[in-house]
Amino acid sequence: MNICGYYPESINEGEGLRSSIFLSGCKHYCKGCFSARTWNFDYGEPFDKNRQLEIIAEMAANPLLDGLTLAGGDPFFSAAEAAAFLDLAREKIPELHVWIYTGYTFEQLAAKPDSAEYELLRRGQVLVDGRFVQELRDVSLLYRGSSNQRLIRIPESLERGEVILWERTVGLPV
Ligand code: SF4
Repeated sequence: MNICGYYPESINEGEGLRSSIFLSGCKHYCKGCFSARTWNFDYGEPFDKNRQLEIIAEMAANPLLDGLTLAGGDPFFSAAEAAAFLDLAREKIPELHVWIYTGYTFEQLAAKPDSAEYELLRRGQVLVDGRFVQELRDVSLLYRGSSNQRLIRIPESLERGEVILWERTVGLPV
């Protein structure tokens, strides 16, 4: 697994101040993708155990962080490795709050309970789902690029068996 970007602090990929890690590799090939270079699974730097522990230590030492965001590429094409990374991170930061970006829909991921993709899904709190659709591009949208994409509360949606949208909660870490 490679990463093609890492921001120790970002306010662009989810609510609050978050660490953002961009995992290389995507096979959705959306027209108008923000960075086609990220489709390549070998792009960027290796995300080996040492690098993972380095980033985890950096997150653990930052009291201002609200959580972590996994973006890409699409982390669900490296689902098993990404889930293992989250487990490792939570050994050090048990309450780590995680947003995940994907070109899959929530329904596609939730439909396969025995899959690595489902294991990654259930480790997150918020999913930004759906491919980027150029015709639906809207720069006024919060944390997403096109209006088909949704911000979804993962635990509540899995529990109820229907999509529960995330909405900004003023003043509370979410
Ligand atoms: S899912 Fe994201 S990274 Fe993948 S092609 Fe679409 S916009 Fe690009």
